[in-house]
Amino acid sequence: MNVTIRMTRAENIAQFGTKPVEIPIEEYLCGVVPAEVYESSHREALKAQAVAARTFALKRALAGTIMDDTTSFQAYRYGLATSSPRSRQAVEETAGQVLCYDDTIIDCFYSASNGGLTKRSGDVWRKHYPYYVNKTDPWDIAANAEKKTKASHGVGISQIGAMWAAKNGVPYNEILAFYYDGAVIVSDYGKRRNLDIEDNTPEPEGGHKMNLRKLLFVNNACYKAGKTMPPKGIMVHSTGANNPNLRRYVGPDDGLLGKNQYNNHWNQDKPGGRQVCVHAFLGKLADGSIATYQTLPWNMRGWHCASGSKGSGNDTHISIEICEDNLTDATYFNAVYKEATELSAYLCRQYNLDPAKDGVLICHAEGYKRGIASNHADVMHWFPKHDKSMDTFRADVKKLLDAASTSPAPTPTEPKKLYRVQVGAFSVKTNADAMLAKVKAAGFSDAFIKYGE
Ligand SMILES: [Zn+2]
Repeated sequence: MNVTIRMTRAENIAQFGTKPVEIPIEEYLCGVVPAEVYESSHREALKAQAVAARTFALKRALAGTIMDDTTSFQAYRYGLATSSPRSRQAVEETAGQVLCYDDTIIDCFYSASNGGLTKRSGDVWRKHYPYYVNKTDPWDIAANAEKKTKASHGVGISQIGAMWAAKNGVPYNEILAFYYDGAVIVSDYGKRRNLDIEDNTPEPEGGHKMNLRKLLFVNNACYKAGKTMPPKGIMVHSTGANNPNLRRYVGPDDGLLGKNQYNNHWNQDKPGGRQVCVHAFLGKLADGSIATYQTLPWNMRGWHCASGSKGSGNDTHISIEICEDNLTDATYFNAVYKEATELSAYLCRQYNLDPAKDGVLICHAEGYKRGIASNHADVMHWFPKHDKSMDTFRADVKKLLDAASTSPAPTPTEPKKLYRVQVGAFSVKTNADAMLAKVKAAGFSDAFIKYGE
């Protein structure tokens, strides 16, 4: 895939002349990413920028548009393309990945800052796209609090917001999901739908695969508090109300949830006046099928179980909340139970958790008994009605993990490669410290010292 660029900058004209030239898109991006954001940015911010810039360029290349090398399209600098290894790595690690909405490559805009509020494109320009919505951008706000940046059009990625988020542990796919509402990352220039969040999830027996979607509760005070935690376990909850519809709790409507006519979902500051927020909801979409919605980054501290005599599971456990019905429908129960086991297996794999280990995979009632949660009965008032318990749940999750580890990964999309980078080995600690300081000063802020033989 090539892009056609007419150069206007002296350094680019020296290399390419003034007539439009065709450049391979990936090579072009190596000169865009470092020109648009700092080469020293966190790698997840560079990756988010790479995917956004690729999406922008691909859309125009497919339309036959000749771009220039300025911010009228995207800043491109040949000199930086050859001298920015971190940006190049971000381009390589995301090669071919673009953002799609409804199977169409999106018109991907971004700007330096949005002033704390992502903008609906129709309010800024004439054309409106469904993936640009008005919402509070806590990352942009946090970044501006550290260093004031002038806001520009504010549609799509806020570059300073993305840099702040990346620095604070948010991966590039979550950054993109936040700024391009409902868009998904698709590899192979939009031809292959395999990089959504369910990537690497093994296909459980029976062919069913959890339907994991994402709608982060960015308006919830818990999300805005932005505290992180290293997940040490999972706490299973159920809602305690007869309403199996996800739209009761998850909103606004993404076209699948259906409309919540009371607008009392949890994507607001304090739902029903309560400080409450969980990491995922499981229940019914508008069409009656079962889905899981991730509503907080998994490593963000949730508000789901208050505390007990020994502390709070909020500091340690990822919370998954199953929407209850009237508790008698076996078909619904079996479907959400299965979905919950698959989600738990997925999370156990992601955070290297052993579901069989004491205190790792528990329900709210068990959390109370352990002294880390308030006194609630969920899910033990429900599971036994359908001959299940937390013991069967843990065993079923373990089974999924064991099955995945003994059978070859299904439909592997790309073989996993590990690229190790090391800059030196020292027998004197102070020499190692000095090298680390040097490496960090060069912009590799995530470098670290590892002790080994
Ligand atoms: Zn609960």
